[in-house]
Amino acid sequence: MSNVLIVDDSETVRVQLRNDLAKEGHTTFEACNGKAGLQMLEENVHHIDLIFCDVNMPEMDGLSMCREIHKNDILKSIPIFMLTTQTSQEMKSIGKDLGVVAWVIKPYEKKKLMNGVAKVLAQTGCT
Ligand SMILES: [Mg+2]
Repeated sequence: MSNVLIVDDSETVRVQLRNDLAKEGHTTFEACNGKAGLQMLEENVHHIDLIFCDVNMPEMDGLSMCREIHKNDILKSIPIFMLTTQTSQEMKSIGKDLGVVAWVIKPYEKKKLMNGVAKVLAQTGCT
C-alpha cells in the first residue's frame, strides 16, 4: 500500500479522495495549496509514492508546484495526477512536460480513478 499526497484547496475534495484512497488501503497526507504541498514533499518525512494535485489554489497553483517538483531530482520521479476542473489542452501539455501522468476532470469517477491509481503504482513498484 502506498502513501498518497492530496493537494487541493477544497476540503470537500480532500475528504472524498481521502476516503476513496483509504478504502483501497492507501495512507493519505493533505495540503491545501501548492506551497504547503511542496514543503511537505521537501521535508520528505512521509515518503510519498503518488501526488494528487489541483490546479487552481491560493498561494501556489498546481502547475507551479509541479514545476518546482520537476526541478528536484529526488521528487521528480513521483507520479502526479492532476485533479481539476481545467480542461485546457495547453495546461495539459505543460503538465505532461512536468511529470503529470494523468489529467482527471472533477468530479471524478471513483472506480475508474482508483484503477488508474493502482495501475500507476504497479508501474512504479509501489503497490
Ligand atoms: Mg481549487
